[in-house]
Amino acid sequence: MEIAFKKVSKEGLDFSLKHDTISFFGKLYQKSPMIVLLKGKIEGELEHRCDRCAEDIRLRVDEKIEMLISDGIYKTTEVDGFVNENNLAVVEIFDGLINFDEILQSEIELYKSDYHYCITCKSQ
Ligand SMILES: [Zn+2]
Repeated sequence: MEIAFKKVSKEGLDFSLKHDTISFFGKLYQKSPMIVLLKGKIEGELEHRCDRCAEDIRLRVDEKIEMLISDGIYKTTEVDGFVNENNLAVVEIFDGLINFDEILQSEIELYKSDYHYCITCKSQ
């Protein structure tokens, strides 16, 4: 799913998508002509393997996502009335389209890159 960067207003634009067992939803806000703030949530279940014994496990995901999307290269020095006060992660786009499948995929990879253990290994 894609949304045109230019369609996002200051009042906000809702988005929501589902990928297998994972839902990704929230709102986009225009912060400056070049910056959009994404506030959302990833919920659902992911197939994974225990990082200790490789047993199949299901991860319950319930993650708040907050990031900035920059139309083109993100320049912190640019004077366009926006300051990244909270030091949020910035995703740069170059075709004017916000690609939610890509954002979701990279967030899932990031989530999986943490250590996750099965019940047996957890209780050891
Ligand atoms: Zn295990």
